[in-house]
Amino acid sequence: MVLFKPIKTSRASEDVFVQLKTSILSGTFKSGSKLPSERELTEMFEVSRGVIREAIRMLELSGFLSIRQGHGGGAYVTDLTLSHVSNAFLDLFQTNTLSMAEVAQVRMFIEPEVARLAAINFTPAHAQQIDEAEAREHGTYQSLTDQIACLTTVHKVLANICGNQFFEAIVRSMLKITAEMVQKVVPDPYALHGPGEHIQLIKAVKAGDGPKAEAEMHRHLKDFMISMVKLEKEYRQQMKAQP
Ligand SMILES: [Zn+2]
Repeated sequence: MVLFKPIKTSRASEDVFVQLKTSILSGTFKSGSKLPSERELTEMFEVSRGVIREAIRMLELSGFLSIRQGHGGGAYVTDLTLSHVSNAFLDLFQTNTLSMAEVAQVRMFIEPEVARLAAINFTPAHAQQIDEAEAREHGTYQSLTDQIACLTTVHKVLANICGNQFFEAIVRSMLKITAEMVQKVVPDPYALHGPGEHIQLIKAVKAGDGPKAEAEMHRHLKDFMISMVKLEKEYRQQMKAQP
C-alpha cells in the first residue's frame, strides 16, 4: 500500500507534517489509531529519522497526535474536538496577542445571541440540565478552580442548548480566558460574579423568550466585562513576574 510520496525538498519535515496531517484529516488514520512506527515512516517517506521525529513533534504540538510511552507506545491520533479552538485562544491571550478588551467585545457580541438561541431552542428536556447548573452555584466549593467552574456552568449549558457547536467552542474559549485571569488575579471571584446572578436570564430562557434572554445576558455581562478589562493590567504584571 503506497500511502505517501517520497520527499525531495529541503523542507522535508514540513512536507511530512502536511502529508501526515492530511491523512489524519481525511480519515486514513482515525482518532485513537496508532501511526506507523518511526522506522516504517522513514522507509515510506524515504527521509531520515530526524525528519520523521520533527514532523511527529509538530503534529503533537498542533494537537493531532499524543505520544504514549512504554509497551504499546507510539504516536496516537487524538480525538479532534472543538476544545482545540478553546486552547488556541487561551494561548493567544496568555501571550498577550489577544487583549481582554478584545475578548470582552466578542463575548458581549456572542453571548447575548447564544442566550437568545438557547431560549428559542429550549425544550422541557433541557430543564434539568439548566436547573442543576444553577444549583451548582450555591453549593460548597472544593477550590478556587471548582468555584469558577460552578459559577460558569450556566454559560456552558446555554452555549450547548443554543445548538451551534462553533458558538459553543467560542464561548468555552472565552470562559477559559476569563477563568485564567480570575485565577491569577482575584483571590475571591465573588468580587466579580456571585451565585444566583443568572436567575433572571434562566427564567427568560425557560420561558422561551428570546429577546428577554438576549437582554438579560447583555445586562449580566456588561459590568462583569468592564471589571475584567480593568483587571488585565494586573494580570499582565503578574504574568511578567511569575509566568
Ligand atoms: Zn455569569
